[in-house]
Amino acid sequence: MKILFACSEISPWVKTGGLGDVSFALPKFLKKSGVDIRILIPAYPAIKLAFPDAREIARPHFLGGELPTCSILEAHCDDGMCFYLLDYPPYFERDGNPYLDINTGSGWHDNHLRFALLSRIAAWIGSSVSTINWHPEIIHGNDWQCALMPLYLKHTANTRKCKSLLTVHNLAFQGIFPQNTMASLAIPDNLWRLDGVEFYNNLSFLKAGLQLADFITTVSNSYAHEIQTPEFGCGLEKLLTFRRNNLIGIINGVDESFMPADDKFLTSPFSTFNTKNIKIKKPINRQALRQLLKLNTSPDMPIIGVISRLTHQKGLDLFAEIAEKVLALPAQIVLLGGGDKNLEKEFLALAKKHPQNCSVTIGFNEALSHQIEAGSDIFVMPSRFEPCGLNQMYSQLYGTIPIVRSVGGLKDTVINYSEKNLNLSTGFVFSEDSSQALLQTIILANSVWKNKTQWSKLIENAANSNFSWEQSARKYLNLYQNLIYKE
Ligand code: ADP
Repeated sequence: MKILFACSEISPWVKTGGLGDVSFALPKFLKKSGVDIRILIPAYPAIKLAFPDAREIARPHFLGGELPTCSILEAHCDDGMCFYLLDYPPYFERDGNPYLDINTGSGWHDNHLRFALLSRIAAWIGSSVSTINWHPEIIHGNDWQCALMPLYLKHTANTRKCKSLLTVHNLAFQGIFPQNTMASLAIPDNLWRLDGVEFYNNLSFLKAGLQLADFITTVSNSYAHEIQTPEFGCGLEKLLTFRRNNLIGIINGVDESFMPADDKFLTSPFSTFNTKNIKIKKPINRQALRQLLKLNTSPDMPIIGVISRLTHQKGLDLFAEIAEKVLALPAQIVLLGGGDKNLEKEFLALAKKHPQNCSVTIGFNEALSHQIEAGSDIFVMPSRFEPCGLNQMYSQLYGTIPIVRSVGGLKDTVINYSEKNLNLSTGFVFSEDSSQALLQTIILANSVWKNKTQWSKLIENAANSNFSWEQSARKYLNLYQNLIYKE
């Protein structure tokens, strides 16, 4: 089975969120299961640095519109994974965020061309004109950045009948551009229609993909249903309902780099399969975190951790509203993240006011994110919507009890606490999109934290959750098989 996995970010080299983690972990797992899977990714500076021996294997040209002639480089990872690097320095050799110009805080001015090129090259590799001596049977694209791939596959020479699969990691990011960019991207004029690429008078990359992909997946079962409703569908709910027979949710797994037993970022790695070991090692990591962040090291209070983009989606404005009350419980707060400037300021002011008990780090910091997972007692994710969410799963495996809102993947991966259901409970789940509902749940979690017998049981349950990629990878495998044999 030959699969091309096309993506716009991949951990550990270029990561802005969950997509980076998935792009690294899922292909690796599928490869171990015997799939000939190769990864297509833009040759950003960090990627070029990681693969100094990459060599050119093709130079696609006449791509249509203003899409430039570019190079495809081939490179290999230590584990044998084959990478195709899309090399076009004017588009991709830029420092910083792969999508945003940090000077303006907005998307790069030419994002339509950059990611149309990524989609176009994915389709080119799958088409009959490819000069690469390897022919995928399926191209598995991810998010809006790859969402024009099914369109290019259908509208270019494709006698190989390569199939397309599009995974939606977040429906809120759609790749919306003015109509007048269509010609530069070689999108046929006749697709400018309601059942084509037109979306409220703009071009939508994601809509194109959702219309034309042979199959669509998203990253949890609940989110697959939610996006067919007006509340979560971002205007695409009718199209998604129309395509429901070709749409499923497959929950993401957790890669071994987020297993506390082998975590190279921890002061004291610990196996969570052994409850005694958690009891000994968790306090060591908690103290290390307090020391690192210069917090009071002697209090008998829980640490509440947050690692997140600070955006409306993540609901951290709700947390900001009640943070003073949370500190007064008492509890310590440790936050790592960035995004909304007002929220950043609000949290920084809180940390300044309570330097002993509140630490706020603005920015992206992989090592600190692992240390927060390991050192915190409680992890907060009050998301308004959450396609899958990874941190609530990481938390559980680190013996850190999540408090989540009952949406998407959060709902699918956390079992709500109740005394009656203590043998199964792994966290706290609340429904209402309100700071008061969040506060009540934090108060409940804090009171359970004081009951050491119950808390130990929660930790044991959470840490023994099975979030391995195995089951999910098997679902992708079945899907690939069905797609290949489906006419
Ligand atoms: P998203 O919607 O941002 O993709 P996920 O929960 O699916 O949310 O995945 C987020 C991933 O990014 C996790 O691996 C998380 O630890 C990581 N992450 C988020 N913010 C930061 C940050 N500021 N520093 C380090 N890692 C972060």
